[in-house]
Amino acid sequence: MSYTDYIFEGYHARVAELQKSDNPFATGIAWTGGDYVPLHQATVPLLDNGFLKSDLSYDVPAVWDGRFFRLEDHLDRFETGMSKLKLTSPISREELRSRLVEMVAMSGIRDAYVMMICTRGLRYLRAYAPEECQNLMYLMVMPYLWVSGEETQKTGASIAIVRDTVRVPTGSIDPTVKNLQWGDFTRGILEARERGAQYPVLTDGNGLLTEGSGFNIVLIKDGKLVSPKRGVLEGVTRKSVMVAAEKLGLDWEICDVPVSAAYEADEVMMVTTAGGVMPVTVLDGKPIGDGQVGPLSKAIWKEYWDAHYDPAVTIPINYR
Ligand code: PLP
Repeated sequence: MSYTDYIFEGYHARVAELQKSDNPFATGIAWTGGDYVPLHQATVPLLDNGFLKSDLSYDVPAVWDGRFFRLEDHLDRFETGMSKLKLTSPISREELRSRLVEMVAMSGIRDAYVMMICTRGLRYLRAYAPEECQNLMYLMVMPYLWVSGEETQKTGASIAIVRDTVRVPTGSIDPTVKNLQWGDFTRGILEARERGAQYPVLTDGNGLLTEGSGFNIVLIKDGKLVSPKRGVLEGVTRKSVMVAAEKLGLDWEICDVPVSAAYEADEVMMVTTAGGVMPVTVLDGKPIGDGQVGPLSKAIWKEYWDAHYDPAVTIPINYR
């Protein structure tokens, strides 16, 4: 028995059920301003600055066992990100929420990765002021994606604190605005793999940890959780982890975290919507602690998944 079984058993049964479905949306559904279409038929206009210049903001909530998890947190962050980039959603928050819920219901997908993207739109940017463009919204729902899946979660992932790649400075790209300018992360992934690790964690180039390729990093030392404050997306999963820590009576702090703290940590976790709480057991080729998934990571993992059934932070989907 692994500590992960109680959540993966139900998940596998739901995936097996979904795979039997003949619903054309069962592998994914998209909305790009018109009718709902199967995800693989959806397209992006070539002239969209979201595509040409990554001029966009986006967000990714998830649905777990038929319930949206912390959707309002994701909508809040998405709205803040759009406003910082002077993007205006072509649809209201209410319409956005109801379309997302409707799309999940139409798809029959009970565990979903949901993406909403607001792009600058089709005008040639150098001829028009950015704030004058008609912005576009793209929505998609697909089966849940795992940054690290069941097998890796059982034993723990391996990370490298990469040396040749640093996180893009916050004065260039605001990391609190969720964005798809992944140049540093892609380079970091390549470097991590060269170093024999699965995932990179990037520094700010000045001795502080930032985050990994699509996840926040959380260290545990002497029963206290710490996670970097600057140079990072303010993750919704990290927020859930801190709520879990409080329930367990653990202290936590979002603060400047020196690179050296990672090497002194008792336990390390990567945390993101696509995968949840993912324990790390190897850092730069060496075991963290005894190289096993630690007791506090397991306890937080369980609190995290239990919260997916908490009516205070979930919205149930009425499937057809
Ligand atoms: N950091 C980055 C760069 C991300 O892209 C993500 C999620 O994709 C996260 C952190 C984790 O954020 P959340 O927990 O809200 O999914």
